[in-house]
Amino acid sequence: MFHEILGNKYDAYLAFIRRTMIQDQIAARGVKDPRVLAAMEHVCRHCFVTEDMVSRAYEDYPLPIHRGQTISQPYIVALMSELAGLKGGEKVLEVGTGSGYQTAVLAELASAVYTVEIFPDLAEQAAEKLGKLGYKNINFRTGNGAMGWGENAPYDAIIVTCAAKHVPAALTAQLKEGGRLVIPVGDEPQDLTLITKTHDELIEKKICQVRFVPLLKAEG
Ligand code: SAH
Repeated sequence: MFHEILGNKYDAYLAFIRRTMIQDQIAARGVKDPRVLAAMEHVCRHCFVTEDMVSRAYEDYPLPIHRGQTISQPYIVALMSELAGLKGGEKVLEVGTGSGYQTAVLAELASAVYTVEIFPDLAEQAAEKLGKLGYKNINFRTGNGAMGWGENAPYDAIIVTCAAKHVPAALTAQLKEGGRLVIPVGDEPQDLTLITKTHDELIEKKICQVRFVPLLKAEG
């Protein structure tokens, strides 16, 4: 509706509130990586929400998408992206494509993104959207992401956007030496956990408490 009345002015307005979101919700809470902040400024979150949620796209919340799933809160997307420690040349695995919003942010930060979604229709919609937005470095798969995506392993970073009871062994196995796994673990609220693989040892650090939808199906 707003777009019909305001046309391009509405896009300019959305870009303005996106910058405000970055200052007030993301930088203000301590996310510093300039590449992450630039990616969050570049990716239009309103492109990934359902039509009735466009006017709320830059609020400080997760929002409902189809299949009872959610698009993550912007701050959490930025925080998880920063924790992945991406410099630009990496290969990244995402578990839980959902709307494709986090996927787009990762595609801005790394050279190749592999993303796995359990619901075929969500995967299809995200692939279509990300294709239209011009991303060429994203590979999609439908299936149980707890098993990872072995054919393209190992990964520099793995981001899991649904909550696991335990860290799936397949994911740590598919991590490169020095690689980072960012994953919400445990019962709600879960611990957002950063796992770093060093000399084949896994070093775990709890970052903060988060609320994610559950990782579905058996864990690998
Ligand atoms: N990154 C997404 C978050 C979506 S919510 C976004 O910002 O939009 C988490 C997603 O994980 C949902 O789409 C859900 O369907 C998916 N999911 C749940 N269990 C999964 C599994 N075992 N394998 C792959 N995807 C899974």
